[in-house]
Amino acid sequence: MPAQLLEGKIIAAEIKDKLKQEIASLGKKPVLASIIVGENAGAESYCKSQAKTAEGLGIEYRLERLSADTTQASLVDFIKKLNNDNSVNGIIIQMPLPKQIDYKSISSFIAPDKDIEGMHPQNLGKVLMGKAKIAPCTASAAFALIEATGVNLYGKEVVIVGHSEIVGKPLSLLLLEKFATVTVCHIGTSDAGKLVDHVKKAEILVVAVGKAGLIKGEWIKESAIVIDVGINRINDKIVGDVEFEEAAERAAYITPVPGGVGPLTVTMLMRNLVEAAKIQQR
Ligand code: NDP
Repeated sequence: MPAQLLEGKIIAAEIKDKLKQEIASLGKKPVLASIIVGENAGAESYCKSQAKTAEGLGIEYRLERLSADTTQASLVDFIKKLNNDNSVNGIIIQMPLPKQIDYKSISSFIAPDKDIEGMHPQNLGKVLMGKAKIAPCTASAAFALIEATGVNLYGKEVVIVGHSEIVGKPLSLLLLEKFATVTVCHIGTSDAGKLVDHVKKAEILVVAVGKAGLIKGEWIKESAIVIDVGINRINDKIVGDVEFEEAAERAAYITPVPGGVGPLTVTMLMRNLVEAAKIQQR
């Protein structure tokens, strides 16, 4: 495998070292409130991993459990209570949410300076304006992995597959800020039969779709940087969206799945929390 592995935990460890120093200078343990509505195995497992990372950094992780029949109005009231609680520095709402909750609108009820997922319209607006202090965690993780290669983004041909609010859209803006030439592909690109043409020209490829094997190894440009955000469970094995072995033969750098973007995403959540605590102190 000629490609160099881009392991999230290595970059995460460097960021965590910096965070520990910043937390020490805050003079107070930052507090993360995590809201889980109803019961979901996936959400429980995310919470465990967040709580473990928080503990290692000296962050208090407060798990707030609400019942599965919580209404939109009572969830909003609960968020407002946390917004007004000066002991809480950051708020995260675990997905998935029950059907009666409009998950797309719920982030806008979190106070922008406590929105550590970076999904409040005000924080997304700052990403658009190149003034982001708190950006969506997965997009930031993918961005940090690209930067870890030392590549100069100026004029680079970047192709992002997937245009979700949490990954593709914000990442395209973070990369534009560095003067990369960014193409964003989605289902329309695939339906038009043009996905392969775009992927083949990518000097940097980011894939965030959730379809195993969507990106064929032979499509990867020689010496490309490949960031695979996708998580797919196939016969008890976790794989990404890119055919890993074949892609690794052609790429210069590639993220493993698991072990690439995932470990860094939770670190970015903690980085956002520390940033939020600093903003609140000011
Ligand atoms: P979404 O479902 O919100 O977005 C998927 C995107 O892929 C959409 O833009 C969709 O387009 C596009 N898409 C679907 N099918 C195709 C196709 N055949 N060709 C091209 N584009 C296509 O997912 P998320 O962004 O939330 O997550 C994407 C993946 O990343 C998932 O596997 C998820 O588990 C993983 N993930 C990993 C994280 C980590 O920390 N490692 C964190 C968050 C997510 P359209 O909307 O037009 O259909």
